[in-house]
Amino acid sequence: MKIICVAKNYAAHAAEFDAVVPAEPIFFLKPDSALLIANQPFFYPDFSTNVHYELELVVRVNRLGKCIQPRFAHKYYSEVALGIDFTARDLQAEAKRGGNPWTVAKGFDGSAAVSAFVPLEKLGKPVNQLKFRLLQNGAQVQTGDTSQMLFSVDELIAEISKYMTLRTGDHLFTGTPAGVGPVHIGDTLEGFLEDMPLLKCRIK
Ligand code: MG
Repeated sequence: MKIICVAKNYAAHAAEFDAVVPAEPIFFLKPDSALLIANQPFFYPDFSTNVHYELELVVRVNRLGKCIQPRFAHKYYSEVALGIDFTARDLQAEAKRGGNPWTVAKGFDGSAAVSAFVPLEKLGKPVNQLKFRLLQNGAQVQTGDTSQMLFSVDELIAEISKYMTLRTGDHLFTGTPAGVGPVHIGDTLEGFLEDMPLLKCRIK
């Protein structure tokens, strides 16, 4: 399986960096070795001193597809989860300065924490009307609302499938809302989708 991620899919987060809102979605990949499931702890890597959380809605692809039309994209997923796109911000900044890929800053082991998946049917809401939030040591640090996405889930699926065949089990991280920040050893991160506590991750 592959993990497809979107950079800057919320205008307020784009403003946290360079305020450049992309005209088309910008994608990057994480390897499957980045997956951190079942609320396992995240081990702070020794190659970074500035790892950030980015809480995101994650969509799981449920069938094979290529060149999917936006109007049919909703047929390619039925479950969502919360994920943390852990980012070594220092390595990312260095890569950006050199005009180099973000691969190691975004794709290191454990950098893709993903909760259990929940059927959209069970949530009783469409994918573009979901609210989610992150608590760091009990204090709310990030809130998201999928209605604020620059590119909808269906648009993302249509766009990426022009280039890459989507397969059952592929994960799509749909971009972080504003409010990203550093994590520290000893932290507990808790993610809520609507009011469901889905994700819990200790930083060790
Ligand atoms: Mg992200």
